[in-house]
Amino acid sequence: MKIYNTMSKSKEDFIPLEEGKVKMYVCGPTVYNYIHIGNARPMIVFDTVRRYFEYKGYDVNFVSNFTDVDDKIIKKANEEGVTADEISKRYIAECKKDMEGMNIEPATKNPLATEEIGGMIDMISTLIEKGYAYEKNGTVYYRTRKFADYGKLSHKNLDDLQSGGRALLVTGEDEKEDPLDFVLWKPKKEGEPAWQSPWGEGRPGWHIECSEMSKKYLGEQIDIHAGGEDLIFPHHENEIAQSEAANGKPFAKYWMHNGFLNIDNRKMSKSLGNFFTVREISEKYDLQVLRFFMLSAHYRSPLNFSAELMEAAGNGLDRIVTAAGNLKFLMENAGAEKMTEAEEELFAQTDRFKENFEKAMDDDFNTADAIAAIFDFVKFINTNTDGNSSKEYLEKLHDRLVTLADVLGIIVDREEEMLDEEIEALIEERQAARKNRDFARADQIRADLLAKGIVLEDTREGVKWRRA
Ligand code: AMP
Ligand code: ZN
Repeated sequence: MKIYNTMSKSKEDFIPLEEGKVKMYVCGPTVYNYIHIGNARPMIVFDTVRRYFEYKGYDVNFVSNFTDVDDKIIKKANEEGVTADEISKRYIAECKKDMEGMNIEPATKNPLATEEIGGMIDMISTLIEKGYAYEKNGTVYYRTRKFADYGKLSHKNLDDLQSGGRALLVTGEDEKEDPLDFVLWKPKKEGEPAWQSPWGEGRPGWHIECSEMSKKYLGEQIDIHAGGEDLIFPHHENEIAQSEAANGKPFAKYWMHNGFLNIDNRKMSKSLGNFFTVREISEKYDLQVLRFFMLSAHYRSPLNFSAELMEAAGNGLDRIVTAAGNLKFLMENAGAEKMTEAEEELFAQTDRFKENFEKAMDDDFNTADAIAAIFDFVKFINTNTDGNSSKEYLEKLHDRLVTLADVLGIIVDREEEMLDEEIEALIEERQAARKNRDFARADQIRADLLAKGIVLEDTREGVKWRRA
């Protein structure tokens, strides 16, 4: 399996630190609003990376944080007249709903920055002891030039940074020893959340959060560290400087970065105001379509969002879902149980679709080609099954299709994933049928729902439903 490593700017063989295991950290969102579909791109991409490792039999420890202390959160809290904690809790809950809609597997752990301050303070103290950091008036800075490898990820040269950095100096930062130094701890300002530390009350800088949370939940050395390409510099460069100086070991083996989701060829971002939230998109499209759209391009390429491409993704997804639905229908009505010799021969021919799928995914997670392999498989299914096919043959094709689609996080069995709104609409229709004394229709709806694992209970307060 090959992974493009931003550090070496080349595709490298994946060799895990520990056999059979993958330790993976993905920088998560800052939670001060609903996430937009640009933020959804790394979520979908790295969830797919994780799923492929799992498909290959690896045990994946997947850690992704929520940054729940930040200027933007504090600003939003002040605007609403509530605490920063209330804002971050609210948008973490909303983000998790969106992630469920996009069929993102829950992380092994979602650490919150505010719950890990003690560890960050310890790491900053270590950096001070080792001479990599210093305190000035309640602020702790990282001594960038002391870390000889600084710039190795972003391939930047310290002297170029120096000349660019001077212009960027903001007031209050002139107490730094060097314009390249960055903040590890900042002192409390009035009305801001703050924690006790050896340097007075304050809060951590953004970069130290990930260094500490990655270390705490995955250890000092990890296999993969990932995020959007805007995080390469300074965020990931600074994480490397902090972690490697504090721990005395190489930090992550592979650095993976997704390209931007653009709109009219400009990066979608909150600050430009050119964004759609995942929630808005979910009102227009099934989020499975959004997921399929994201995976239709290579994760490192820029991807332009458009209604046409979403429609194309919707049509492509439909072809797969319809093929799976047809297989299910044929399975339910199949006459013969066992595969014939001819069917065994046919099924063996489908190995090539699985092989092509894996070949694409092994080549730095080329999901576009992996989807093409699934389309070829769907074409094969459509032309090589009919009412005379045996149940075993149909089941084997169906299982293979479900397994490959599941690596991409695509759910092909629609009925099993009925949405709450769909269930509620059917319940309403059933109530209306009963009112019209169309009991046959009402009973039919109850039976259909039951077949999909939804149990209805007529209670005094109305109809209640639950999943069986
Ligand atoms: P933020 O909340 O801005 O820190 O972003 C959370 C994650 O989303 C990071 O990995 C960013 O790199 C990523 N991200 C933000 N905007 C985009 C975009 N337009 N396209 C792709 N990734 C993005
Ligand atoms: Zn991070």
